[in-house]
Amino acid sequence: MTMRFPIVLFLSLLFVVSYGQKISPNKKAVMQSIDARASEMTNVSDKIWSFAETAFNESQSAKVLADYAEANGFKVDRGVAEMPTAFVATYGSGSPVIGILGEFDALPGLSQKAKPTKDPVVNGDPGHGCGHNLFGTASLSAAIAIKQLIEQGKIKGTIKFFGTPAEEKFFGKLWMVRAGLFNDLDVCMDWHPGAETRPAVQPGLALVDFTVEFTGQAAHAAADPWNGRSASDALELYTTGINYLREHIKPTVRIHYHIQDGGQVVNVVPDYSRLWVRVRDSSREGMVTVYDRVKKMAEGAAIMASVEYKISLVSGIYEVLVNRSGGSLLQKNLEILGPITYTDDEIAFAKKIQESTGKPQEGLYTKIEPMQETMKESGGGSTDVGDVSWVVPTIRLSAATAPIGTPWHSWAVVACGGMSIGHKGMFTASKTLAMTMVDLYEDPKKIDAVKTEFKERKGGHVYKALIPEGPPPLEKK
Ligand SMILES: [Zn+2]
Repeated sequence: MTMRFPIVLFLSLLFVVSYGQKISPNKKAVMQSIDARASEMTNVSDKIWSFAETAFNESQSAKVLADYAEANGFKVDRGVAEMPTAFVATYGSGSPVIGILGEFDALPGLSQKAKPTKDPVVNGDPGHGCGHNLFGTASLSAAIAIKQLIEQGKIKGTIKFFGTPAEEKFFGKLWMVRAGLFNDLDVCMDWHPGAETRPAVQPGLALVDFTVEFTGQAAHAAADPWNGRSASDALELYTTGINYLREHIKPTVRIHYHIQDGGQVVNVVPDYSRLWVRVRDSSREGMVTVYDRVKKMAEGAAIMASVEYKISLVSGIYEVLVNRSGGSLLQKNLEILGPITYTDDEIAFAKKIQESTGKPQEGLYTKIEPMQETMKESGGGSTDVGDVSWVVPTIRLSAATAPIGTPWHSWAVVACGGMSIGHKGMFTASKTLAMTMVDLYEDPKKIDAVKTEFKERKGGHVYKALIPEGPPPLEKK
């Protein structure tokens, strides 16, 4: 002990980076570990990018990540929570236990080459329009860097990487939460690709997905329509009702629907119709109020068209319970790393993307700004990380993997995720997460602060999953 202290002090003084911050040897080690694996990470990410597998079909993508974890000495449990593409990779023992989330599913219809103008690899095929190829890879690489420190005896505890499928549809983490897979964690880490690099401290939106089916009586559309009861009439009346409702809901509410079946041909009174409906609001509570109302309207539409109706819950997710104590750790590490820098070619690529999508040619985000205030009603999207964040304190980061203003869930995100702009965001995310985990492993007080904030924000709320009984909906292509 007496010998080690001066050495540690000496090493700490050595590692002073350009931002004028001291950097601990363990942080330096995780940065070097990630740099050393840069080409492997690019390779893994590019593979997942080209597989572009959608929700619950991510067998190759999950395998690449699980195999990579196993090759790096993790114990891997595959097919957890009744989902073949969900897995948990664990290394170490005892506390603290820190988890890190990794997604890898793609979106339908967004196939795109790594080019700055719209050019699908195969028209209509899926593509990584949310950057999840980078997401899973960066998180796993951060976990590997931590594993190496545990292995070398530099830090103590357990690291767990969670391979979480189907974020874009169905929300796979819901079933992992239900299976209790996060229960032994002290803290959970997470990130998401975006157009900016900063701690993610906004709650986003809670949502619910459900289907509405109308069933009537088929008949000839001209010869005997009086014998028909039209399921598509009910569908139209229902969506008309929803669109009138929009005037009487809070600005934070979003209602979307996708008509999945509106009848097959013009000369038959359709006896079946089906929609997928989504209701969002800034809180679970607010969302449920509108959800109840929108469900009731299906009955009204069915009465008007004299048909039967059926409502089936798909799944629902919470808004995120943010953690600013964790966010401030990320912030300090982002300041140590400094902004991402780009080559002239990358800036030109970004501006071409912006030109092709009708955005101002502002290039890429290259700032480190102070951590944002957390807004009560932040708007934005939704994530199944929300549910994880209500059962374990969750620290979230956003890292720039695409130019400023890039339309998300679009071909433009796919393009950047398959080239160096996306890769650079992935490296930054991986390093920031690993460095923040070093903070947590090295200092139990930091974990305590994160936990205390979690308890305060959660208050007396009892977490309740919004999913039907039974196994997850393993939809195949
Ligand atoms: Zn996403």
